[in-house]
Parts: sequence; structure tokens; C-alpha cells
Amino acid sequence: MPHQVFARVLSNDPIIAGHQVITCEAPTLAAEAQPGHFVNVLTAERYDPLLRKPFSVYTVDRDRGQISLLYSIVGATTASMSRKRPGEMLDMVGPLGGRIFQADTRPDTTHIMVGGGYGVPPLVFLSRELRLAQSAPNIKFIIGARRKDLLLCEAELVAAGVDARVATEDGSHGTSGRVTDVLEPLLLENSGLPVAVYCCGPTPMMKAVAELCLKLGVTCQLSVEVAMPCGIGVCMGCVLDLTDGRRVRCCVDGPVFEAGEVKW
Ligand SMILES: Cc1cc2nc3c(=O)[nH]c(=O)nc-3n(C[C@H](O)[C@H](O)[C@H](O)COP(=O)(O)OP(=O)(O)OC[C@H]3O[C@@H](n4cnc5c(N)ncnc54)[C@H](O)[C@@H]3O)c2cc1C
Repeated sequence: MPHQVFARVLSNDPIIAGHQVITCEAPTLAAEAQPGHFVNVLTAERYDPLLRKPFSVYTVDRDRGQISLLYSIVGATTASMSRKRPGEMLDMVGPLGGRIFQADTRPDTTHIMVGGGYGVPPLVFLSRELRLAQSAPNIKFIIGARRKDLLLCEAELVAAGVDARVATEDGSHGTSGRVTDVLEPLLLENSGLPVAVYCCGPTPMMKAVAELCLKLGVTCQLSVEVAMPCGIGVCMGCVLDLTDGRRVRCCVDGPVFEAGEVKW
């Protein structure tokens, strides 16, 4: 059940150029949010912007009642978020999302996270939750970025003992190329074994990952990122076409879909 929360900002710090992590006191959200959920943030200063903007939940600390969002500063909402100081309040509605990531429950599954840009945070949350739920889950995390200085969360994942692999389009770190250049050999290595792919990032990246997984017969869940003006299924601003002919609202019927469901 989504709530509107005015959450006290505890910290709001840059992590790489143009990206910050904002941590807020929000016990209800921290208790209820699961990987794939998002919150809709309003930072209106004189009705600009008019609409809320969606942000995936990045981390929760349920004991302390805290929630964090990792955001890229691109426009009015995110610029305003970046100016919030500790002690100020952030207006959020959440947790939102009717269909979220479902961790594969087959024994000995290799869980492969594929994230690009601000698609990385919800997958970091998913891998944390998997590590809390299982003693030693087999997680491989592929992070994609245009350049080394735009990579998100690599150090954090490595520090947590996650097998993190990197693809940069300019070859400045890790494999030179795209996430699919790392994913394809990994899937072929694991051919015939239980594998589940979870993906979030720019639409062309998700399309390429979905097509590869469908070709190799691997299950793949995607968190689709389209504009979601209301986030609660009312405005019809986030309609997505599915391969079975249905037209659904990403905010309440998603944002997570199986690779074969999405009509690109
Ligand atoms: C389910 C969901 C989860 C999301 N999670 C996150 C998240 O965890 N972290 C995060 O940073 N963002 C996330 N986003 C994207 C975020 O909602 C948008 O970037 C949002 O529009 C930013 O609002 P703004 O008012 O700052 O910029 P806007 O005023 O909307 O945009 C300003 C300018 O930036 C351009 N722009 C907008 N979005 C982008 C973009 N993504 N990339 C490049 N240019 C852009 C616009 O075309 C415009 O020119 C998510 C989106 C969805 C649908």
C-alpha cells in the first residue's frame, strides 16, 4: 500500500560526477520496500516540476528505518534533490510498483544482474536481499557504462564479495564493449545450468539483453524505465505494449516484466 511520506534527509552526497545518494528517515518505506519497487518524488518549487518523478529504491536499512535513492542529476527534480541538506524533508510516495523482481528459487541458481546507468541501484538492492535470504548465493553482477568515470557501485559490490564484471563502451575499464559482450560468454559457460538474469537500464540495453536471453532460453526479468507521471495507475502516462497484444500500465502492472512479454 503506497504512502505519502515527508522524510527527513540524513545525508545527500556525491558518489561520482553528476550522481548522488540521498538517505532519508522513512521507517514505513524501509519496512515495506522490496527490490524493484520505486518511489515518486516531488520537489516542486513554485509548481516546477508539476509532476512527481520515479526513483528506484537503492538501499533500505530496516533496523534504522532508512531508505536511500541513487540519482543522476539531469533536470528540475534531480537538481532540486541534489540541493537538499540534512534535516530538510523529501516528499515521496511509495513503495510503488505492482510487479517487482522475483528471485529465482531453483537450487544452485546463478543469479546474473545486468545494470546500466541508474538501472544499477535496484539490482544492488536485489543482490543485497539475496545475500540476506541465502547463505552464499551465486551472484554475478555486470555493470555497463559509456566510460570508467560513469560506472556505478563497482567498489561497493566488490567490497561485499560480489563477482562484479564491467563493460565500458570506450574500453577505459573492464571489457571493451557492451554488457552483452560480457553476458553472452557467461551464459554460454553456464549453458544447461540454472541461470536467472535480472536487468535494468536504458531501453536499447534491455532490448539487447532480452533478445540474447530469449535466444539462449534463459529466464530474464526486466525493470522497464519509462516516464511514470502518477505512479498509481491513474494517468495512463506509462502504457507499454506487450507481445500478447495487451497494453499495460508500467507503474502498476510492472515495472518488472519477463523478457518475452515486452514488445520493443
Ligand atoms: C521506474 C523508474 C525508476 C527510476 N529510477 C531512477 C533512479 O534510481 N535514479 C535516477 O537517477 N533516475 C531514475 N529514473 C529516471 C528519473 O525518473 C528521470 O531521470 C527523471 O525524469 C528525472 O527528473 P528531472 O525532473 O530531474 O528531469 P526532467 O525534467 O524530467 O528532465 C530534464 C532533462 O533531462 C532529460 N532527461 C530526463 N531523464 C533523463 C535520463 N534518464 N537520461 C538522460 N536525460 C534525461 C530530459 O529529456 C530533459 O531534457 C527512474 C525512472 C523510472 C521510470
